Amino acid sequence: MENKGNYDVIVIGGGPIGLWASYYSGFRGLKTLLVEASDTLGGQAIYLYPQKEITDLPGIPAITGKELVDNLVLQMNSVQVDSVLQTKVTSILDDNGNKAVITDKGKFEGKYVLLTPGIGNFVPNKLGNPQVERFENHGLYYYVKNKEDFRNKSVMIVGGGDSAVDWAVEMINIAREIYLVHRRDEFRAAEANIKKIIQAGVKIFTPYILDSLTGDGKLEKAVLKKTTDSSQAVINVDSVLLMLGYKLDLSTIKGWNINLGQDGIFIDANCITNDPRILGAGDIASPREGIKQKLLVIGFAQATTAINYISKALRPSYPTFVHSTTKS
Ligand SMILES: Cc1cc2nc3c(=O)[nH]c(=O)nc-3n(C[C@H](O)[C@H](O)[C@H](O)COP(=O)(O)OP(=O)(O)OC[C@H]3O[C@@H](n4cnc5c(N)ncnc54)[C@H](O)[C@@H]3O)c2cc1C
Repeated sequence: MENKGNYDVIVIGGGPIGLWASYYSGFRGLKTLLVEASDTLGGQAIYLYPQKEITDLPGIPAITGKELVDNLVLQMNSVQVDSVLQTKVTSILDDNGNKAVITDKGKFEGKYVLLTPGIGNFVPNKLGNPQVERFENHGLYYYVKNKEDFRNKSVMIVGGGDSAVDWAVEMINIAREIYLVHRRDEFRAAEANIKKIIQAGVKIFTPYILDSLTGDGKLEKAVLKKTTDSSQAVINVDSVLLMLGYKLDLSTIKGWNINLGQDGIFIDANCITNDPRILGAGDIASPREGIKQKLLVIGFAQATTAINYISKALRPSYPTFVHSTTKS
């Protein structure tokens, strides 16, 4: 078994937040290792929305998921950080005051561990309706790899959150027709994007559910049912995007003696879990105070806080990192 160490920080999960954490850790002069289970860095932004534009990052009017990840990797590579791909962390053990990170490729030793495994495996929420799911990958999709696949098509998007509305916006100049279907009358999405889809003439069906999909060999029609009176609407479609969110898969982490709630691992204001040597940031993290927000900007801030905490804990005489000498 390979045994690599002794790192100041081992970051587990190479999604956007783990990439930023690794950069910032290297930037602060900490000996850093990033461990990623898959063969690609970038997490959800690469696997689920490489071409979608992100428009809620400060100072960046619009950037696709892939561009963001490319930039984060570039930034990480500008400092000294070790990284391993295709290496899944299976447990974290105490090791003479340090932490032993056990993976399917060997053991790594570190003084602190920062958990950024996001939602774990990317398992989409489904409707549990065989009349819909029989078209999986033949007209029915849970994420978009290539927007061009939908050019000039009649596309139906199902869901009421940010992902559904974001994709409706993305399809405005791509698809021939766009339908947005939600079981409630109100969307839980950015107001600016709701305005955009209304102005663009996206056909909105609320409160409707997707009842079935039909077609001979290929998808042809979507049958919608109104939740209030069960009346039906039948619509010609080429593709349906089911954007109902993704399951938080905590199965791996369950055995790691870290306090878990329904929304992930509990962290305090310094992003520390119940184990003082294990911190958490990003989608996996569930703050004990305040609301949980699965947003990049929140995860980036948590990662920065966590690394600055570790830096201070390892080198108490170093000043806390501030960009101002002003004292009140
Ligand atoms: C369709 C969609 C659109 C979105 N749009 C926006 C947006 O516009 N703006 C915004 O702010 N947010 C958006 N988000 C949310 C944003 O993508 C997430 O908040 C962000 O990806 C969280 O990053 P993360 O690094 O915490 O987790 P993830 O991106 O989930 O990455 C976690 C990484 O950890 C790895 N991993 C998991 N378990 C292990 C293990 N045991 N060992 C090693 N590695 C492991 C995974 O393989 C993965 O690469 C969107 C999300 C979706 C699904």
